Amino acid sequence: MKQKLELCAQRLNGCKLIQNAPMKDYTSFRIGGPADLLFLPQNSDELILGLDTAKELGIPYVVMGNGSNMLISDKGIEGLVIRIGPDFSGIQYDGCTQKVLAGTLLCLAANDSLDKGFMGLEWATGIPGTIGGAVAMNAGAYGGEIKHILTKVECIAAGELKCIIPDDKDMAYRYSRFSAPNTIVLSAEFSLSPDDGSARERAREYCESRRIKQPLNYPSAGSTFKRPTGHYAGALIEQAGLKGFKVGGAEVSTLHAGFVINTGGATCDDVCTLIKEVQDRVYDRFGVNLEPEVKIIGRDVCSL
Ligand SMILES: Cc1cc2nc3c(=O)[nH]c(=O)nc-3n(C[C@H](O)[C@H](O)[C@H](O)COP(=O)(O)OP(=O)(O)OC[C@H]3O[C@@H](n4cnc5c(N)ncnc54)[C@H](O)[C@@H]3O)c2cc1C
Repeated sequence: MKQKLELCAQRLNGCKLIQNAPMKDYTSFRIGGPADLLFLPQNSDELILGLDTAKELGIPYVVMGNGSNMLISDKGIEGLVIRIGPDFSGIQYDGCTQKVLAGTLLCLAANDSLDKGFMGLEWATGIPGTIGGAVAMNAGAYGGEIKHILTKVECIAAGELKCIIPDDKDMAYRYSRFSAPNTIVLSAEFSLSPDDGSARERAREYCESRRIKQPLNYPSAGSTFKRPTGHYAGALIEQAGLKGFKVGGAEVSTLHAGFVINTGGATCDDVCTLIKEVQDRVYDRFGVNLEPEVKIIGRDVCSL
């Protein structure tokens, strides 16, 4: 692998590359060991070169955006990590259509749409992911969801550049067909509407609600679990008496039991052990399976 990675770095000469990049610096959880090679493409051509090189050399790769829904192994990630981030960003408008490059932060796209007099993305102003990550996760909040406004996706699928008009089956609750490793989102188009004058106030209320209800002062990956049908994960965890439950530096937030937070020095193992314990206790008490929303990635990670 070492030789393959050296060859990969040579082929990507001139692109932004970081060897042994500490993933805790690239995730909102502030957890994770080194990625062998972190690649920060600045445009589609560089991205395609990186993907082709990894495939040709047989190097495993992981695609990430802002790392706000990821828990990375303490042992890091083998191979190439492709971060589609701020170097790959931009916003354009054509009437009420907003076209956004994948590395643009969702909250920036949402705020920009408000500044330009549109509504439709105001629910997203407090979500810390990229457009690529938001499309891949079908991010949503306060009744809004990416799938409600998404009209076109430019992506790489099966090694080819594609432009896809999504249909109903392509996305569901925290699920998207446009998700790495099979599909890599390059840009998304959203259909917005002229602001009727209420959007900015709604955005303000949603941000205020997050500030009051969510443990934003601690590193986390947002909601740890998906919402189980007919329940709320946070309420079940709280009713199971697990608010404040701790393993090492990982804790079930006392403010919002749906969030696992890093109180300082938490490891991936701490978080995984805590998640497993929460799952077991909630299942024993209520017979409900809690499925992680956070993507657990890297060397020797457990399956939860
Ligand atoms: C404080 C906080 C609050 C949050 N609130 C919400 C919320 O209200 N609603 C919500 O839905 N989420 C929320 N999240 C979770 C997170 O912000 C979203 O899931 C976000 O969409 C993830 O985007 P990202 O760029 O960080 O993706 P990452 O975490 O980097 O990646 C997530 C997944 O997307 C894939 N991916 C990333 N980029 C691409 C791409 N270009 N093409 C294909 N696949 C890609 C990755 O491979 C991975 O599987 C919150 C997180 C935090 C920390």
